[in-house]
This record gives sequence, C-alpha cells and structure tokens, in this order.
Amino acid sequence: MSKLEIKNLHVSVEAEDGPKEILKGVNLTINPGEVHAVMGPNGSGKSTLAYSIAGHPKYTVTQGEVLLDGEDILSMSVDERARAGMFLAMQYPVEVPGVSVSNFLRAAKTAIDGKAPNPRHFVKEVNGAMEDLNLGASFTRRSVNEGFSGGEKKRNEIAQLKLLDPKVAVLDETDSGLDIDALRVVADGVNRYMESGDRGLLLITHYTRILKHIKPHFVHVFVDGHFIDEGGPELADQLEAEGYDKYVTANNAAK
Ligand code: ADP
Ligand code: MG
Ligand code: MG
Repeated sequence: MSKLEIKNLHVSVEAEDGPKEILKGVNLTINPGEVHAVMGPNGSGKSTLAYSIAGHPKYTVTQGEVLLDGEDILSMSVDERARAGMFLAMQYPVEVPGVSVSNFLRAAKTAIDGKAPNPRHFVKEVNGAMEDLNLGASFTRRSVNEGFSGGEKKRNEIAQLKLLDPKVAVLDETDSGLDIDALRVVADGVNRYMESGDRGLLLITHYTRILKHIKPHFVHVFVDGHFIDEGGPELADQLEAEGYDKYVTANNAAK
C-alpha cells in the first residue's frame, strides 16, 4: 500500500517581520498507483508543500495532517519519513562536497532498509541505475551534485528514486532545465518506478511537455497556498494555453 493523505495543511515560515503563512489549507489524497500533477504560478507555495511533506525544519506546520498509509508523518523526523517511504527530489538539488554518489546512495539505502545492502549486488544496482539515466559509471565516484550540470542533477535524483523505491515520491520541477533527450530519460525512469502499480507520485511542474511522457491521473491548480481547481490531463493543456490569470483573479476576489 502507499496512500498519501494531506488534510487541511497550514504551514508558516519565519520571515523578517514574523511568521508568514505560505500553505493555507492544502487537501490532497494520492491513492496507490496514482500520478498527481501540481501546476501553479511562481511563489504560490509548491516547493513549500514539497519541503513540508519531507520535513524541512524551516517550515512550521500550524494546522492539519499528513498521513502515509494512515500513519502521521508530521510527527516523524526527516529520516523517519524516508524510512516510512517518502522521497523528495528537490527543485534545486544540493551539492555535498566530499561525499561520493556511491557512498551517499549506500548510506541512504542502509538508513532506509535498516541494514547495509549486499556490496556486490548494490554496486551492480547502482551502475544499472546510472546507466538507465544516461549517467556514466564515473558519476558514482564524484561528489554528490558538485559540478553536475542542471540536467545531471535531475537525472541523479531519478537514479536515487530507482534505488530507494519509496512508497510516494514528490518531484519538484524535476523537468525544469532538461533538454528533450534528458526529459525522456527522466520520464522513462519515473514511469518504471510507477510500474509496480502501488506507488504514488506528486509531480510539481511548470510545463505540460513532461505530462506527455508521464500521464497524470489528476492535474491540480495551486494558487496562493492552496488547491483551487482539479481536472484530468486536459487541464494542463488549458493552463498552458490560458495561464493562471483566471485563477489568480478568482482567488483574490474570494479573499
Ligand atoms: P513555488 O515553489 O510555488 O515557486 P515557494 O514554496 O518556493 O513557491 O515559495 C512560496 C512563498 O513563500 C514565496 O512567496 C516565498 O518568497 C515565500 N518564502 C519561502 N521561504 C521564505 C522565508 N524563509 N521567508 C519569507 N518568505 C519565504
Ligand atoms: Mg518557483
Ligand atoms: Mg518551487
């Protein structure tokens, strides 16, 4: 099973002039096997939603619940959330100088499984994942994300996704900055992850082009800290054609 439920989630950050509410009542259920795309204007709080689910300390949950298979993940540490089966591919993957990709992956896998993977087996798995994402084997010896191009960082995140095989993955603009070939490689990786049929995916994106490769079951419009509309894949095309003006105007009128 892998069901993620977000219920009336409110999140604040500490701004210079006091706490500022960014998420204003987010509701979303991702059932096993479902792909949910989230689209919305810059600054609406999409990354805040991703970080809040993952447990970034900068974000304070003031109200609401996030449940993974019925378990409250908000009371868990970042590590515990990963062990419970949550995964976040960040919009801006961080560089970790001095930690090689292979050591990082082994540490992550060990932390999540509670035991070290079989070394020979794991090396093979890592090399396979790198190959699938068109990253040469030499990448595993490099420091995590250090000097990686934008596309290489994003592909490395999907290699992690493959190796860690979480219950629910949140991909924050993983498609931004990818050329057409890299986009296809990333999409193939994500689709393979979803193949088992019981994983969940929250795909934050600005562009419909990735949704041609990764078919969403639902498209959600996110404005000013909450979801304001929902539809099928056709909604993404409508958003690309018309922009978010209509929604921003309606949201302001409702205030
Ligand atoms: P999106 O991913 O949709 O572009 P973000 O979640 O990155 O949006 O940001 C949502 C809003 O929260 C933005 O207006 C951003 O400036 C604000 N924000 C995020 N972190 C802080 C912070 N530490 N202090 C003040 N404002 C913040
Ligand atoms: Mg943004
Ligand atoms: Mg963002």
